[in-house]
Amino acid sequence: MQRAGKGRTPRRPKKPSNIEKDPVGVYCRIRPLGGEDEECCVEMISSSTIQLHAPDGLKANRNGEYKETQYCFKKVFGIKTTQIELFEDVAKTLIEDLIHCKNGLLFTYGVTGSGKTYTMTGSPGEGGLLPRSLDMLFNSIGPFQAKRFVFKPDEKNGIEVQNQLDALLERQKRDSQQSVPKTPSSRQRVDPEFTDMINPDQACKFEGVDEDCCYSVFVSYIEIYNNYIYDLLEDAPFDPIRPKPPQSKILREDQNHNMYVAGCTEVEVKSTEEAFDVFWKGQKKRRIANTELNRESSRSHSVFTVKLAQAPLDADGDHILQDKSQVNVSQLCLVDLAGSERTNRTRAEGSRLREAGNINQSLMTLRTCMEVLRENQMCGTNRMVPYRDSKVTHLFKNYFDGEGKVRMVVCVNPKAEDYEETLLVMRFAEMTQEVEVARPVDRPICGLTPGRRQRNQAFKDELSRRLEERGGPVNGDPVQLNQLIESLPPLPPCELSDPSDDQTLPRLMEVLERRYRIRQKMTEQFNQTANNMKFALQQFESQFSSKENVLHDQRSKLGEKDKVIANQRTEIERLEKKSKTLEYKIDILQKTTEMYEQDKRSLQQELESREQRLQKELAERRRMEQRMQGVVTDTKLKWERECERRVNAKQLELQNKLWVKDEKLKQLKAIVTENGGASGGPAEPPRKPERPSRERDRNVAQKRSASPTPLSGNVFKTRGGGQAVEFTDIETLKQEDPTAPSRKRRSGSGEGPAQTDDIENRPPVANISSSHGYQKRRRP
Ligand code: ADP
Ligand code: MG
Repeated sequence: MQRAGKGRTPRRPKKPSNIEKDPVGVYCRIRPLGGEDEECCVEMISSSTIQLHAPDGLKANRNGEYKETQYCFKKVFGIKTTQIELFEDVAKTLIEDLIHCKNGLLFTYGVTGSGKTYTMTGSPGEGGLLPRSLDMLFNSIGPFQAKRFVFKPDEKNGIEVQNQLDALLERQKRDSQQSVPKTPSSRQRVDPEFTDMINPDQACKFEGVDEDCCYSVFVSYIEIYNNYIYDLLEDAPFDPIRPKPPQSKILREDQNHNMYVAGCTEVEVKSTEEAFDVFWKGQKKRRIANTELNRESSRSHSVFTVKLAQAPLDADGDHILQDKSQVNVSQLCLVDLAGSERTNRTRAEGSRLREAGNINQSLMTLRTCMEVLRENQMCGTNRMVPYRDSKVTHLFKNYFDGEGKVRMVVCVNPKAEDYEETLLVMRFAEMTQEVEVARPVDRPICGLTPGRRQRNQAFKDELSRRLEERGGPVNGDPVQLNQLIESLPPLPPCELSDPSDDQTLPRLMEVLERRYRIRQKMTEQFNQTANNMKFALQQFESQFSSKENVLHDQRSKLGEKDKVIANQRTEIERLEKKSKTLEYKIDILQKTTEMYEQDKRSLQQELESREQRLQKELAERRRMEQRMQGVVTDTKLKWERECERRVNAKQLELQNKLWVKDEKLKQLKAIVTENGGASGGPAEPPRKPERPSRERDRNVAQKRSASPTPLSGNVFKTRGGGQAVEFTDIETLKQEDPTAPSRKRRSGSGEGPAQTDDIENRPPVANISSSHGYQKRRRP
């Protein structure tokens, strides 16, 4: 990679870690199929994606295991893409970069027949990237080119500036030599095969050229075949009878660690036509050598290098600044690589086999270099990149290691036979896209005032206009010179015929003295005028420089203002960003508030409904309490009654027992009295005391209780002569219980004293009964 010539600080080897990098730009171009009936295995899916289909035969062979694969590129150019479209996307910025002192590398890669040469060189009317690049370059820098030989390659990959005189001498020498062709004045003089490579309507031009610089273009053209480098522009006479094998060149590293082909011819060219003429000569030489030496052109790499030297004009804007450190050199390499197919496919035989192997080898090296580079960049490893393994990679080492823009056009022939090779090409392309190359940086500009060239031109134009107004330029006007001579005193006749003539010589001397005096006067006048002129000029110059200073001041002020504006702009941007974040925050806060309010509303609603429920429950409880109180009073009343009734019953029972005992006693008395007073008439039977009956109470009891069972019994004589009472009925205490099941009554009978069964008493309400101690049993 070329850097400014001598005197510049050598770049590298330590690279700063924060340099900006760009990935290698990989483009894909699909060429049309040769015939319509051919099977196509490549399909363009989008402007950046293609899909490969395995051809039918292959599918069958591999049991259909071949799948469709997709590959992405920076851009894909379909079969209808024109050369100009491709150029505008791929190479235009490279030319702009070249003019801005930045290096570029553009290569075509693909299988033989895929359109690499078509893409790079093109055909008449359909010029490829190379002629279009040259055309754009010369259209842009055309009027600002330096005269031939002002820039001169220094044999060490640098370019220096020559002084005007040396350049002039070299130009004259060149003109006198017939062997060096002159720049063709028009397209007609160029090889007719390439006259119409580019349609004039499609001419491109870059408008951002620095007009205060002078430019020169140098081209070189090499071929790398079998890992040997050949100079295609070398002027060695070719002997058709005994062809000498061409001498190969070697690679060297310059003082800036850039690789270059040592001793390679660099031809200065001043127009597209001339440049193309040189290219075409190289092509011819290549063709001849290939034929003579039985080589296959598809196996060689060709590298066409366009080197652009530029240097600023001096402060007057008139001549190139004679400062070698101000020369900037940039270069664009246009590379048409050899076919990427494997050796066996080309059926290379004999000596060609080795060549094929080598070509394969150099592309393999390219591949390995890309792989190692990618790995180093992605994994942070520091593996050595094997650039030196092949000439191609060694030559372009600086592009990958240093800086520059690298672009690759992958050419694809969609025909089925190429499928497997195309797959390999795609894999290589995919991998290459992941390699990053340091972005070229802008060169520092020289400190001279911009617009010098234009100002100088304007000054010259103005000067010639004014001179014309004053009657044309003074120098060398023969009429004025004659007038001046005539105005001098005429010389007297000065023929001496007599040795004693003492008049002629003194007369002549007098006239000559007069003339001398006039001349002196004129010289004085002239000097005075010149001094005046000089003074005026100095004044003008000081005025001019003061104006320039003012201008400079204004410019620096403008720069400061620009800076302020830029600062304000960034501040505005910052504030805008801040306001955006604040707006966002407000938005979020509003949303949060809304959420909270909604929550609040729903909570309030819930509160209200709970309060209502509570009220309802309270009312319910109150009702229940009242009801309970009613029930309690009822139950209390009932039990009071019941107690009374039971007391009555007990009373009755006890009375009954008393009565029975009384009866027994009476009977006993009667027996006793019967035995003691049998004579005294029948005694009146003692009046039987009335047996207490429950009939009396029944009505009361019935009123009190729902179904009180009457207690009844029979009195009978016992075997022993006594009497016994048998209760035939059991009085059952009954309690009204709304929930109690139907009452059971068990009656039993037995001898002896009255027998009663247990009475089941159920409490009407459990809790209430317990509080009243409501369980009673009746025992016999
Ligand atoms: P390579 O250099 O890759 O071996 P070429 O550029 O020589 O291939 O192309 C082979 C043939 O295909 C040439 O005849 C060329 O004109 C034609 N060709 C290649 N690409 C295109 C294209 N995009 N449009 C039309 N013809 C093409
Ligand atoms: Mg080719």
